[in-house]
Amino acid sequence: MQLQPRSGMTWMTRVLLLALAYVIAGRLALLLAIPPGFATAIFPPVGIALAAVLIWGYPLLLGVFIGSTVLNLSISVDGLAQLDPGHFWVASGIAFGTTLQCLTASWLIRRFLGFPNPLVDERSIFMLLILGGPLSCLISASIGPLTLFQAGIIPAAALPFSFWTWWVGDSIGVFIATPLMFIAFAEPRLIWRSRLTTVGLPLLLSCALIVAVFIRASAAEQSNRRHFFQEQAKLMSMTLRFRLQLYGQAVSSIEHLHMASRHVDADDFRLFVSPILKDYPGILALSWSAWVIDTQREAFERDQRRQTGSDFAITTLDEAGHVIPAPRKAEYAPVTFIEPLAENRRALGFDITSEPDRLAALSSARASNLAKMTVPINLLQGNHHEPGFLLIKAVRGRNQSQSSLQGFAVAVIRLSDVINRALGSYPRRNFHIQIEDIGTAQPKVLFNEAGSSVPDYAEAMIWRERFEFGDRQLRLQIAPSAYYLQQSQSFQPWLVLASGLLICSLLGGFLLTLTGRAELIRRQVRQRTLELSAILDHAAEAILIFANDGRIEIANPAAAELLGAPRAALLGREIGDFLPGFNLNHPKVLQAMFGQRCDRMGRHSDGHQMELEVSLSHYELPDRQRYICLLRDISARKQIERLKSEFVSTVSHELRTPLTSIQGSLGLLKAGVAGTLPASINDLVEMALQNTLRLASLVDDILDVEKLEFGQVGIELSRCALLPLLQEAVAHSQGYADSYHVRLQLDTAALPPETMVMIDNLRLQQVIANLISNAVKYSPQGGVVSIHASHHHDQVRVSVSDQGPGIPEAFRARIFQKFAQADSSDSRQQGGTGLGLSICKALLERMNGQIGYDTELGVGSMFFFDLPCAGSLDEVPA
Ligand code: ADP
Repeated sequence: MQLQPRSGMTWMTRVLLLALAYVIAGRLALLLAIPPGFATAIFPPVGIALAAVLIWGYPLLLGVFIGSTVLNLSISVDGLAQLDPGHFWVASGIAFGTTLQCLTASWLIRRFLGFPNPLVDERSIFMLLILGGPLSCLISASIGPLTLFQAGIIPAAALPFSFWTWWVGDSIGVFIATPLMFIAFAEPRLIWRSRLTTVGLPLLLSCALIVAVFIRASAAEQSNRRHFFQEQAKLMSMTLRFRLQLYGQAVSSIEHLHMASRHVDADDFRLFVSPILKDYPGILALSWSAWVIDTQREAFERDQRRQTGSDFAITTLDEAGHVIPAPRKAEYAPVTFIEPLAENRRALGFDITSEPDRLAALSSARASNLAKMTVPINLLQGNHHEPGFLLIKAVRGRNQSQSSLQGFAVAVIRLSDVINRALGSYPRRNFHIQIEDIGTAQPKVLFNEAGSSVPDYAEAMIWRERFEFGDRQLRLQIAPSAYYLQQSQSFQPWLVLASGLLICSLLGGFLLTLTGRAELIRRQVRQRTLELSAILDHAAEAILIFANDGRIEIANPAAAELLGAPRAALLGREIGDFLPGFNLNHPKVLQAMFGQRCDRMGRHSDGHQMELEVSLSHYELPDRQRYICLLRDISARKQIERLKSEFVSTVSHELRTPLTSIQGSLGLLKAGVAGTLPASINDLVEMALQNTLRLASLVDDILDVEKLEFGQVGIELSRCALLPLLQEAVAHSQGYADSYHVRLQLDTAALPPETMVMIDNLRLQQVIANLISNAVKYSPQGGVVSIHASHHHDQVRVSVSDQGPGIPEAFRARIFQKFAQADSSDSRQQGGTGLGLSICKALLERMNGQIGYDTELGVGSMFFFDLPCAGSLDEVPA
C-alpha cells in the first residue's frame, strides 16, 4: 500500500481528483448511450479507476467509491431537491460493485504481474487486459444490474441484457482507458512516456474516429426513426382530418332535408338521420333546433305538444343543473327533434341559446354558411366525462336570406370515438394523440391519450399540425409512445461502437506489444553494446576495427595507448599508417592471415618503429566487411628472446667447451695415460666421468629445447630406410642396457625391410635412444625392453615397451611438458631432466610424426611414435 504519495500531492487530493475524473468521464460516456436506457459501449471511468489504484495504491479506492456514487446519483436525480435515501442506496450499491471490481483487478494484477510494470512482453500485456478487463468486470456487471433490479428500476427480464452491456462497456473502458492512464502517469516513466506517440495517440485517434462514426450512425438512425414515424403520423393526420370533414358534411345533410321538404316532422327526421348515426360513430346525437321568436313561443310549444303527444316546453338548466322552463327572451332555439331519442329525451325542448358556449357557436353559424364547432363542452348525453363538442349549422329558407332562418342542425360529437374510428387501422399503442383547441387565449385540450410524457431525445419525432375545423383553430399532435420507442430502438449503433472500440482495444494491445518488444530489444542492444564496449575498453590487447576501405572505425584505449594517439585521432585514419604494408587490395593475402598470429613491424604515431604481434579476423555486415585487428607490442619479448638466445649460445660455447675437455681428460686418465691408477682413484675418476657425461647430456638437452623453441634446430629430412636405423639405435643403447642388466629385444617381423621414411637420421636416432633409455631406466633388473616396428597403410609405428612401474594417472597429462617428471625424486633415483620426452615430441612433429604411449601401473609402459611412410626402397620417390 502506498499511502505516501511520491510528489507533493496529498492522497486525499488524489482521491478527490480521481472522483472528479470518474464523474466527468462517466457523464461523457453516457452521451454515447443509446436511449432509452444507459447502455454505453464504453465506460472509461473503470479503466481510469483501475489505473489510478495500480499507480497510487489502494487508498484511491475511496475515490472510486465517491466518484461512482456521485455519478450514479447525478444520473438518477435531476436536482438535489429530489434526492432521497432510496437513490442514495442504489447509487452506493452500484459504487460498491465498481469499487470491489477495482480492488479485485488491482490485487490480481499486483499478485500475478507485479506493479509498476513496464509491460514489455505479450504475456504481461495480455494478462493485464484480461485480469483487469473481462474477468474483473464480471463483478460490477453483476452487482450493478442486481442493485437496479432490487430497487425496482429494471425488470428481471432486463437483467441479462443489462449484465451484457454493462460488462462489455466496462471491459472496453479498461482496454482503452487503463493503457492511456499508464502512458500519462505510470512508472517507469521513461518507457511509458515513450509510448505517448506510438500507443497513446493512435489509440485516442482511432477511438475518436470510431466515436465519430458512431455519432453519425446514431444520428442517421435517429433521423430514420423520426422520418418513419412522421410519415405514419402524417398519414394518420390526413385520415383524421378527412374523417372530421365527413362529420361536417353529415350535419350539412340535415340542412338539405329541411330545404327539400316544407314540413319535416319527428318521424321524417328519425328516418333521415338513423343511417347517419350508424355510419358515423362518435356522433352521440343529431338534433334539430327550430328558430323560435318569443311571440311564437306558446304556439310553437302547443304545436309540438300536439305533434309528439308529450309535455314539450322550451327549457333551460338552472344553476344546480335542474331542467326549468326557459325564462322569456327574444329568441329561442329549442331542441325540437333529436335522435337517438331514447337516450336524449331529456334534451328535448332545451334552448341551446341559453348556454353561452353553445350560443357563441350558434351566433357564428347564423352569420355563416359553414358548420361551426363549439368550444369543448360537457355533454348532456349520458355520464360521459370526456368533453365533446357540438357542430352547428344554420338552416335557412330556400332563398338563403338571413331573415329566412329556420333553425339549426346540431351534431353532438365525442372526439375519442371519431379518432378511434378514423385511426382504427393504425397500431394505436405506438402513438400518443392529442388535439387542442388553440383558438382561445388559453389552449384547451379536446383529446389527450393518457400516457407518460415524451422523453427529450424523442421530442424531435413528434408530429404537430394545425388545422381548421368548424371555424376553430385546432392543433393535432402525434407523439411516439414509450412502447414504440422501446420497440423501434435499434441496437445496431451500439454494436458498431462496441465492435469498433474492441478493434481499437486490440490495436492498443498490439501497439503495446510492439513497443514492448522494441523496448526489450533496445534494452538488449544497450546491454550488449555496454558489454562490448566494456570488453573493448578493458581489453589489454590493442584492438582496431577497420572497414574494407582500410579506414579505422573503432579503436580501443589499449590501441590508443599502443599507437600513442587519442582514440578520436585514430578514427578515420588508414590502417596502413600504423601497419605499413598492410595491403587491402590483396584480399587473398589478408585471408591467409585470418586466425594466424604474425609478427610485423608497426609504426607509432610519433614515427618510431615497433615490433607487433598482429592477429586478424573479419566479419561481414550487410553493407560491408569489417576487419578486427589485434595488436600486441612484442618489442620487450623480442628483446628477451634475443637475450635468451645470446645466453644459449654462451652456454653452448662457454660451458660445452670446458666440459668436453674435462670429459676428454677424464677419459684419458681412465685409459691409463697417467699410468695405472690406484683402485680408489680409479673409482673417483670413473664417477667424475659419469657425472661429466650426465652434465654434458643435460647441457645438450637444454640446448636442444631452446633451439627447438626458437626454430633453430636444423632438421634436414631425407628419405631413409627405417630398419637399419633401428638396428643401429638398438646397438648404440646396448651398453647402457647392459649397465642396468636389462635385455634389449628388437622385433621387426611386421616391418617390411625396405620401408622408407622421411626423417632426419641423427634426430630420429636421438628419439629412439631417449625412449630406450627411459624404458631401461624404469625396467626392473633382468627385465626385457622390446622394440617393435610395424607398417600400417601409409604409416610406420615404432614402439618401445618395458616392464617398469607404469606412469601414474595424475602425471599423464603433463608427461610431454618440459621438465616434467612423475616424481621429482625420480631424478635422484633414475637420473634425468624431464626434458627428453618433450624434445622427442617436438622433433617428431618436425618430422611430420607424432608420439603417444600406453601404460598400466605395475605392468609396464609402451611408448610409440608414428611416421608417414615414404614408400619402399625400390620405389622412386615422387
Ligand atoms: P627424464 O630425463 O626425466 O627421463 P623424460 O622426459 O624422458 O625425462 O621423462 C619424463 C618423465 O616421464 C620421467 O621422469 C618419468 O617420470 C616418466 N617416464 C618416462 N618414460 C617412462 C617409462 N618408460 N616408464 C615410467 N615412467 C617413464
